[in-house]
Amino acid sequence: MCGCYLNSPKYHSVTRLVLFDIDGTLIHTHKAGVRAFINTLRSEFDIDNPSQEISFAGRTDKSLVREFFTIHGILATEENFSRFFEAYVFWLDYMLRRTQGEIGSGVDHFVNNLNSLKEPPLIGLLTGNIRLGAEIKLRHFYLWDYFKMGVFGDENECRDKLAALALERGRDILGPDLAPEEVIVIGDTVFDVKCAQSIGARSLAISSGACTAEELSELNPTWLVPNMNKVQVRMIME
Ligand SMILES: [Mg+2]
Repeated sequence: MCGCYLNSPKYHSVTRLVLFDIDGTLIHTHKAGVRAFINTLRSEFDIDNPSQEISFAGRTDKSLVREFFTIHGILATEENFSRFFEAYVFWLDYMLRRTQGEIGSGVDHFVNNLNSLKEPPLIGLLTGNIRLGAEIKLRHFYLWDYFKMGVFGDENECRDKLAALALERGRDILGPDLAPEEVIVIGDTVFDVKCAQSIGARSLAISSGACTAEELSELNPTWLVPNMNKVQVRMIME
C-alpha cells in the first residue's frame, strides 16, 4: 500500500471476500452508460431533452431511472422499468462500441495477483448496474469472467441494502462464519465507502473516479489510493 493507509484496522482478519464497484473503479466508459440512458429516454419515452442534471456516480440504475421518470412525468410502473431496461442494454452495447473507454489503471494486475494467492479470496461485484448492464460493460473489457459472484442494481435500489445482500450471498458461498471485517468493498465514490461501513466491512477507496481524495477521506475509508497500481495485495489481505 502506498502512504495512503488511513485507518489501522483494530482487528486482525484475513480477507475472504473482495467486492468491486464497476464504473470509475474497474473501468472508465467515458459516459457511455449515461448516453445509453439518455438515448433510451429519447427512443422509448419520446423525451426530447432528458435532464442532464442528474448525478450518476455511485447510484443504482433503478434509482436513476426512477428519478428520470419523476422529472419527466413518466409513471414508475414495473412495465415502464422493464421497457426502459430492455432498450437500455441495446443502447449500452451500441455506445460502448463507439466510446474509447479503458480498464482502470492497475486493475488487471491487482485482480491477477489476488487470484495467484495460495488461498485467494472470493472476488465479486457490488454494483448499482443492473446485472445485464454489468455483464455487457465487463465483457466489453474482457473482465466479466474474473468475478465469481455479484449483487446488482436490479436487486435493490439502495446501495447499503445491496451490501447487506452481498454479505449474505458471501456467507452462502463461504460459510455462515464469514465476518463483516473479512469483506473489502472497493469503489470510487462516497456511496461505496458508506455501504461498506453499513455492513461493517473494510473499504478501499480509489480517487481516480467520480470523487476526489478529499471527498473520500471525509468518510474515513480503511484505505484511500489514487488508483489500483498503488495497492499491494498483501496489505489488504491481512
Ligand atoms: Mg463507481
